[in-house]
Amino acid sequence: MRYLSTRGNPSSTADSPGPSFSQILLAGLAPDGGLYVPETYPRVTVAELAQWRTLSYAELACAVLGKFIDDIPLADLRRLVGRAYTAEVFGNGRRDGQARDIAPLRWLERPDAARGEAGLAILELSNGPTLAFKDMAMQLLGHLFEYVLAIKGEEITILGATSGDTGSSAEYALRGKQGVHVFMLSPHERMSAFQRAQMYSLHDANIHNIAVRGMFDDAQDIVKAVFKDQAFKARYRIGAVNSINWARVAAQVVYYFKGYFAATDSDRQQVAFAVPSGNFGNICAGHIARMMGLPIGRLVLATNENDVLDEFFRSGVYRPRSAAETRTTSSPSMDISKASNFERFVFDLVGRDPAVVRRLWAAVDAGGSFDLSGTPFLARLPDFGFVSGKSTHADRLLTIRQTYEKYGLMIDTHTADGLKVAAQWRTPEMPMVVLETALAAKFEETIVEAIGCQPVRPPGLQGIEDLPQRVEVVDVSVETVKRLIAQRVDAMSVKDK
Ligand SMILES: *Cc1c(COP(=O)(O)O)cnc(C)c1O
Repeated sequence: MRYLSTRGNPSSTADSPGPSFSQILLAGLAPDGGLYVPETYPRVTVAELAQWRTLSYAELACAVLGKFIDDIPLADLRRLVGRAYTAEVFGNGRRDGQARDIAPLRWLERPDAARGEAGLAILELSNGPTLAFKDMAMQLLGHLFEYVLAIKGEEITILGATSGDTGSSAEYALRGKQGVHVFMLSPHERMSAFQRAQMYSLHDANIHNIAVRGMFDDAQDIVKAVFKDQAFKARYRIGAVNSINWARVAAQVVYYFKGYFAATDSDRQQVAFAVPSGNFGNICAGHIARMMGLPIGRLVLATNENDVLDEFFRSGVYRPRSAAETRTTSSPSMDISKASNFERFVFDLVGRDPAVVRRLWAAVDAGGSFDLSGTPFLARLPDFGFVSGKSTHADRLLTIRQTYEKYGLMIDTHTADGLKVAAQWRTPEMPMVVLETALAAKFEETIVEAIGCQPVRPPGLQGIEDLPQRVEVVDVSVETVKRLIAQRVDAMSVKDK
C-alpha cells in the first residue's frame, strides 16, 4: 500500500510510487501541506468479514491494519499489536475493576425485532490509561514508533498541541519509549483539573509539558510554524502524533469493525455509528471503514456548540472559526475552530481530485471558507452516509441525567453530545452505536452539575490532582518554544554521551 497527499504531491503512480506506511508513520503533513491518504481503500471481502467476526481485538487489528501496512512483516505487526491491545492496558480494572473484552459493546436498549426496535448501544473505547478513546490508537503508535525507530537507528522529537485528551494519551503511550522525546503544548488553564493532573504529573525524562497562554489553536499554530522551519525540523527530527497522523486514523478503523460485529449477528445487517467529533479523526476512520465495505448505514456526526462541521453537513459551507469565535464548552475536546482531518474526507467527496482540494484549502489556509452548495460534490454527500447534528450545554446535562436515570450509566460530556444527536437519527432499520470517547470521571464538574453526584474514579486515579506537577508556562511565541526544545533535546543528548 502506497500513500499520496490530498494536494497531489507526492502522488503515487506506477513509475514513482508514493511513500509506504513506515515512511509516513513519523511524518506530519505531506510536503505540499496536504494530508496522507492511501492511494486506494483496500476492500474487505464477504469471506473476510465472515472470518473476522470471531477474531479477538488484537487479531482483528492485525487483519485490518495488515491491509494498510505492507512494509512491516506480519509476524512483527502481530507482536506489536499484541502488546498494545491487552486486557491489562485496555480492559482490566480501568472502569470498575472487572476484566473485560477490549472495546466492548454495551446495549442501552437491546434490539427487539418483534417490536421493530433496532437497539441503541455504546461502544466502550475509554478503558485505556487516560480514560479516552485516543488511547485506542495511541498505544499502538507508541509500539510502532519504537519499532520503526530502532530499525532506522533514529531518534524523534514528537511535537504536538492538545486541548486535553490527545496530549495525555500521547504521553502515556510514549513515556519511557526509547529514542522518543515528547513536547506537548496545551492551552494554559483551559483543561479540566483532572486533565492537567494527568499530563503534568508525568515525570518521565522524555516527557515535556508546555502550557501556552492562549487557545488550543494558538498552540496548534505554534506547532505548525515549527514544522514549517525545515532546518529546525531536520536538526531536531520533529515529528507528530496529533490527529492528522495517518497511523492513528488507521488504528481507529479497527473498532468500527469490532463495534459492527458486536452489534449484529449477520454481515447483511447495517449499523449506524454516532461519533462525537472535533478534528474529524474519529469519524474519518468510520468513513474509511465504510469505504472498505463494512456495512455502515449511517455516520452520525455530533458537534458541540462549536458547530463548524455540523454547519458543513447541513449547508455545504465549511467556515473555520476564528479563535475569538471558538467557545470554551463543557465538552472541551471538541472545542475546535477548524477540523484538521476534514481534508481527508473532502478529498474523497470531490472525487480525489487534488486540484480541487488545493483550490478549496487555498481559501481555508488564507483564513477564509468554501461553499460546496450548488456543486455536484454536495449532491454526492448522501452517498457517503453522513448526517449531523449539534448539542449544547443544556442538551449535555439533560442527556447525562436521562442516561443515568434510564440506564444507570454515567456518561461523559462528549459521549453525551453523541448520544443526544444519535437520538435524532435513530431508525428502526439499524442499531445505533454511539462511540464513547471518554469516561465521566474525566469531567466531574459537569457530571455533578447534571446529576448531583460525583462519578466514580477508576482505581489508581484517585487524588491524582495532589501529585506534584511539572509544566513550563510560556507566551504564544514560536521562538520560545523552539528554544525550549533545543535546550532540552541538546541536554538529553549530552547526558546520553
Ligand atoms: C479527541 C476527542 C474527541 C474528538 O475526536 P476527533 O477525532 O478530533 O473528531 C471527542 N471526544 C473526546 C473525549 C476526545 O478526546
